[in-house]
Amino acid sequence: MLILISNDDGIQSPGLQVLAEQVADLGRVVVVAPDRERSAVGHALTLHAPLRAQKIREDWWAIDGTPTDCVSLGIHGLLKESPDLVISGINRGANMGDDLTYSGTVAAAMEATLMGVPAFAISLDSHEFNREAFVWAGQVAAVIARTVQEQGLPADTFLNVNVPAGRPSGMQLARQGKRVYEGAVIRKSDPRGNDYYWIGAGELGFQDLDGTDFNVVQSGQVAVTPLHLDLTNYAALERLRQWQLDLDLDPGEDTSRNE
Ligand code: MN
Repeated sequence: MLILISNDDGIQSPGLQVLAEQVADLGRVVVVAPDRERSAVGHALTLHAPLRAQKIREDWWAIDGTPTDCVSLGIHGLLKESPDLVISGINRGANMGDDLTYSGTVAAAMEATLMGVPAFAISLDSHEFNREAFVWAGQVAAVIARTVQEQGLPADTFLNVNVPAGRPSGMQLARQGKRVYEGAVIRKSDPRGNDYYWIGAGELGFQDLDGTDFNVVQSGQVAVTPLHLDLTNYAALERLRQWQLDLDLDPGEDTSRNE
C-alpha cells in the first residue's frame, strides 16, 4: 500500500510525525506537506507562483505551498505511481461542523478525492501537544486506513475523522454539525493607538444536535463523517423550481455600427 500523507499544520507538526509512525506498518508512507503552518487556508491552490519541493529525507518533502498544492504535487509530480490512499493530519484541533470549509486539513483530502484517490482527514480535538492523545489518534488513522483499503469508499466520497482529546471510548458515523459563531471578532488597540481586529480567537460553541460530529466527539468517541464535494442543496433545488427563473434583459446598445 502506498500512502501519501499531508496536513495543514506544516511538516514540523508532531501530529504529522505521529501519523506517519502509526501507519508505517501498512506500506510505504510518503510525506508531502507544507513547509510552514497553513491552517485555515481552505482549498487554496497556488496558480501564480512556482512551487519548490525540498527533500527533507527519504520520502519526506516540504513544499512552499498549501495543503492542496502538496496533494496535487505529490500525486502528479513527486510520486511515480498514484497512491492507494491519502491521509491528511493529524490536525491540532478538531475540524467539525461549519469549520470544514476553512480547513486546509479537510481540503487536502478533498483534493485527493478530486484526483480519484481514496482519502480521509483526521483531526484531534485538542490544541495542546499531548503525545499520548496523538498516538491514540494515529491508531485510529491506522484502523480507518485498513478499513478503507478492505472496503473501499463510495464514489466521490472521503471521510472526515475527528478524535476526542482523551482515550476514545468508541467510534461512530456522524453527520456534519452546526457551529455557533457569536462574538468571533475581537477589537483591540495597537501600541500606536489604532484599532486592529482578530477573527476566530473566541471560544466557539456548537448546536447540540444528535448524531453530529460535535456531539459524538463530546461523548468521547471518534466521529467519522462521509463527505462529498457536491455542495448542491437538492431539497432547495426542488423548492426553487417554483421561482420560474426567466431572463429578460434590456436590448442594450447597438454596437454593430462600430464594425
Ligand atoms: Mn491545522
